[in-house]
Amino acid sequence: MARSTTFIILILLAVGVVLWVTISLTSERSRKEQIMHAESERPSAHLIASLDMVIVYDNNPHREDLEPAWGFACLVRGSEKTILFDTGGDGSILLANMKELGIDPDEIEVVVLSHIHEDHTGGLRALLDEKSGMTVYSLASFPRRFKADVETRGASIVEVDRHAKICENVYSTGELGTRVKEQALIIHTARGLIVMTGCAHPGIVHVVERAKDLIGEDVLLVIGGFHLGPASSAEIEGIVASIRELGVRYIAPCHCSGDAARELFHDEYEENYIEVGVGSIITMEDLS
Ligand SMILES: [Zn+2]
Ligand SMILES: [Zn+2]
Repeated sequence: MARSTTFIILILLAVGVVLWVTISLTSERSRKEQIMHAESERPSAHLIASLDMVIVYDNNPHREDLEPAWGFACLVRGSEKTILFDTGGDGSILLANMKELGIDPDEIEVVVLSHIHEDHTGGLRALLDEKSGMTVYSLASFPRRFKADVETRGASIVEVDRHAKICENVYSTGELGTRVKEQALIIHTARGLIVMTGCAHPGIVHVVERAKDLIGEDVLLVIGGFHLGPASSAEIEGIVASIRELGVRYIAPCHCSGDAARELFHDEYEENYIEVGVGSIITMEDLS
């Protein structure tokens, strides 16, 4: 009898501890969410007015001295921290393209990895071997082995599950999607949001909706892989229309967007369509 009473008390204690941990984690998350909204409501003088986006890695050709290869990587200069979004698939191509573009690995402070696929993470090791002390934003769902490998190369790892602030005016959408989990980068400029995607596996429309909801601001540009290679023309037309309805002003599909999607976006956006390939540099002047 006494033994079963002790057992029941122990069970109740365990349930209590689990409840307490759950409640405190939930309130911490909603606190972070409030901070993010408060920050995004600051006057536009604090927002990014000048920005460079250098396409370091892409399968679409643009400059003859750079090698196009399957994957995506884009350097963001002009925000509080210099960020490399994705690392392409091959470290030696990444480093060679960076050198040709005058990018010193030392200037990169933060790496954000959109998702685990090799064409976005394959260049990371070579980069970490060039410079230690970088911060790598991964997803919480990335394999433990991958994260441990990053840390053994002298970088610190941040695991994103819900949205996260990366530095002043730069955010992650948080882990989106089900089959392939992915995060996108959101840059809050004085003229609207720039949304940068790796492959957009969770769906490009969903990613843009999430960015808009999170910051509560209009979208100036969507750039990156839209993953529409295998999509039918009817599907792509629907997506182009949805992106228009969401008020996106400029569009720059590259990497896995597919030729058909690039053409249909071009037809719809005309002069607000930005042709992107390896070596392209997009600045705020291209978005005015
Ligand atoms: Zn992918
Ligand atoms: Zn990809």
